[in-house]
Amino acid sequence: MSKRIAVVGLGVLGASVARSLTLQGAEVTVFERSAALAGTSGTSFAWTNSHSKNPRSYHDLNVAGLAEHDALAQNSAAQTWLVRNGNLEWAEDPTGADRLAASVAELADRGYPVEWITPQRARELVPDLRVPDHVADIAHYPTEGHVFPALLVSRLWGEARDHGARLRCPETVTGLSETDGGVRIELADGVAEADAVVLAVGRWTEALTASAGHRVPVADPDAAGSATVGMLGYTNPLPTRLDRVLTTPRLNVRPDGGGRLIVQGLDLDADADPANPLALDGYHAGQLCSRLNDLLDGTEGARLESLRIGQRAMPADGLTVAGFLGDRGRIYTLCTHSGVTLGPLLGRLAAQELLTGNTAEILTDFRPQRLIGQTDLPTLQPARFAGQQ
Ligand SMILES: Cc1cc2nc3c(=O)[nH]c(=O)nc-3n(C[C@H](O)[C@H](O)[C@H](O)COP(=O)(O)OP(=O)(O)OC[C@H]3O[C@@H](n4cnc5c(N)ncnc54)[C@H](O)[C@@H]3O)c2cc1C
Repeated sequence: MSKRIAVVGLGVLGASVARSLTLQGAEVTVFERSAALAGTSGTSFAWTNSHSKNPRSYHDLNVAGLAEHDALAQNSAAQTWLVRNGNLEWAEDPTGADRLAASVAELADRGYPVEWITPQRARELVPDLRVPDHVADIAHYPTEGHVFPALLVSRLWGEARDHGARLRCPETVTGLSETDGGVRIELADGVAEADAVVLAVGRWTEALTASAGHRVPVADPDAAGSATVGMLGYTNPLPTRLDRVLTTPRLNVRPDGGGRLIVQGLDLDADADPANPLALDGYHAGQLCSRLNDLLDGTEGARLESLRIGQRAMPADGLTVAGFLGDRGRIYTLCTHSGVTLGPLLGRLAAQELLTGNTAEILTDFRPQRLIGQTDLPTLQPARFAGQQ
């Protein structure tokens, strides 16, 4: 008889694990509180990369995440969610140049594809690019890319539905407990049962894992100016030629389809506060648009259609959490930053561990047990420099 598995949350991770579980014959029900993409997956820069990922095992996990995206794209008749044509990055001051050189050297040492190119070559790749005169070297990461998260979720969740996955939405899971035969899932008005459950609730992981008696601490997603919060500007459609990610000292930018761009100024994130929405005609929106104009021809008159504050899902040490809570193999937790890069991989590995019992060695350093019961937790450093996210 097929296993009945409940998945809580329908962001990138929930959609991915639901797909992988159904492909292996499980009977899957997803419980989602408000809507698909209602969480962090709906406000993501969505750059697929393994930049500044340390320790080495975390870098390797992200590299495997990139390969999983490629495999998923190759197995799809119509690939719409992934644009894998690279990232350009440069520095404008000596400190930034040292930081970038060290990062490129470390990545090259790890065998990660990266090369130095000239501004002229960069303009061949991105004809409308404006590179400051004093910049001579640009780092090119040819295997990186970006994702349209809604299209990725449509790909993953669509295939899960094709294989019988059901959605209960809106449905809030308020608590979990193990029973002799499986898991009891408490809902806002009722209960449900399953043989096992996967928690894919992103920044809400701490409360739900605590309800099961295994609190996995996450960095406060509401803390203004902290590592968890970041602002993203969504522009109007613009007649500029940009087909890839740029991570530059004053602005990160990527296409968002239909001529729209997503822009991000990491230094501006110091003012990001989920409790205080920012005005579309205010200082931060103005900064993002004028920086965009400095960076790309064809962006004159750019305006933001929305300016959103994203809230990252960050386990308290900043690294991925993937594994069972307790020792009965019934409650599995997935929580991570870089969930767009890692989503397809983590979904497949979680389904493998749940349904076959085969342990994924690549997840060894990312088990939830390292954080459960910990109180002496680090303050995570916010992403403030080009190449961080
Ligand atoms: C500004 C910013 C930039 C980013 N840039 C990148 C990037 O460049 N590259 C990258 O790889 N990643 C990036 N990320 C991170 C990435 O977007 C996230 O890691 C990823 O979207 C997390 O997906 P998720 O499915 O785990 O969580 P979510 O998308 O948050 O989904 C969780 C879902 O669970 C539901 N839920 C919560 N609690 C309950 C409950 N009790 N009952 C039922 N449902 C519940 C929520 O409604 C939600 O839909 C960025 C994030 C931010 C904020």
